[in-house]
Amino acid sequence: MNKPISANQEFQSDFLSVSEARIAISDLIRKTQELAKLKGAIDTIPLKESLGRIVAKDILSPIDVPANDNSAMDGFAFNSKELDANQDQIDLRTRGTIYAGQTDAPSAQAGECIKVMTGAMMPPNCDTVVPQEFTQSSSEGMITFAKGAVRPGENRRLRGEDLQAGKAAIQQGRILRAADIGLAASLGISKLMVYKKVKVAILSSGDELCSTEEQLQAGKIYDSNRFSLYALLDRLGFEIIDCGIVRDTPEELRKAFTSASQKADVIISSGGVSVGEADFTKQIMDELGEVGFWKIAMRPGRPMAFGSLKPISPKTTPTVFFGLPGNPVAVMVTFYQFVRNALLQLNGAVNPEIPLVSVQSAEAIRKKSGRTEFQRGVLFRDQEGKLLVKTTGSQGAGILRSMSEADCFIILHHDQGNIAPGDWVDVEIFDGLL
Ligand code: AMP
Ligand code: MG
Repeated sequence: MNKPISANQEFQSDFLSVSEARIAISDLIRKTQELAKLKGAIDTIPLKESLGRIVAKDILSPIDVPANDNSAMDGFAFNSKELDANQDQIDLRTRGTIYAGQTDAPSAQAGECIKVMTGAMMPPNCDTVVPQEFTQSSSEGMITFAKGAVRPGENRRLRGEDLQAGKAAIQQGRILRAADIGLAASLGISKLMVYKKVKVAILSSGDELCSTEEQLQAGKIYDSNRFSLYALLDRLGFEIIDCGIVRDTPEELRKAFTSASQKADVIISSGGVSVGEADFTKQIMDELGEVGFWKIAMRPGRPMAFGSLKPISPKTTPTVFFGLPGNPVAVMVTFYQFVRNALLQLNGAVNPEIPLVSVQSAEAIRKKSGRTEFQRGVLFRDQEGKLLVKTTGSQGAGILRSMSEADCFIILHHDQGNIAPGDWVDVEIFDGLL
């Protein structure tokens, strides 16, 4: 397998829409993943370490949940035949108590009930629980309650009603969250099979870049992109290989990309992909693989390179390559909009997309039809408690503060035009990003 996989070539000359770019990326990721899967890269790890990992095999429940019929309330369990009585008040004699975790409940005979605690096994011959608060004790050892207080079968949880033994509790491709980890524990599962983490190499290209350890020289800027990328990848749980800053020369770029592609499944670079400037990067990419230099109808984040590099020993699969634009906001936007899902998909996640939420805009927003805009937004409630979104103000692609102050993207779709106050817009909430 010496040939790299090609991203859809036909898109490369014109502007791509955001959705076309997503399709092309997803296609190439699928092909790469099929090759990578041949290696069956799976880790078996302790449950506690599995947050954010991706399930490699359906997790089947070894037991029924709940394991027994049990009471959903503190109250009195009895046989629902008692409700057939031809009177408005039901009187029952209490014959013992059963707590959660006990197994030796007495059986209720006609005219009897058993005091039960929430989670306690249903006593023999009982199918209904009247909650404690609906009952009164009429005399020593007797309770009474209105017949209408409870219907047959109420307040009883049935064995296997949450989950039946042998059924998938958590499906392959799921990105594990706290609730999944609790669920696995509730089934007595202590180890999980997850996909090995995808290895991602990051680098920044640009002669003007200075690392945070260096003294800032005239005309230079600090390299912030590698740090935002590192944090974005870290939060998603990928293995990160930091390849530092690379100068804009063919030799440096060749060296950096070759070395990164030997070690990593994916390379993410930032900078050096806009017209003119891309010349060197493009030349090296043509040498090392097939990478398309795209203009995407979006703002921010217009230029982007995407494709794959040929396998370089010791690796036997191609390396996926994302060349993100240099502007710090564009880096984050393109990461969220393209790279995140692609990496999760490559790592075996099923449906990793983030849901969009519709809210009303508090203000007018200028928007050109024919491109997708990702404005930085802040959600808030007005005096009546209505949820609204406003922009963070100036939306320049270099203003990283706008990302830092925002809590969501306001996504203005391709065909959408100007937004008036009160118009509904789609937002993507940052804290929803896993
Ligand atoms: P480029 O895409 O290389 O033309 O870069 C576009 C803008 O982003 C320029 O103003 C660069 O100085 C800036 N830039 C590029 N790389 C970085 C980086 N790693 N950190 C911060 N700013 C950057
Ligand atoms: Mg540059």
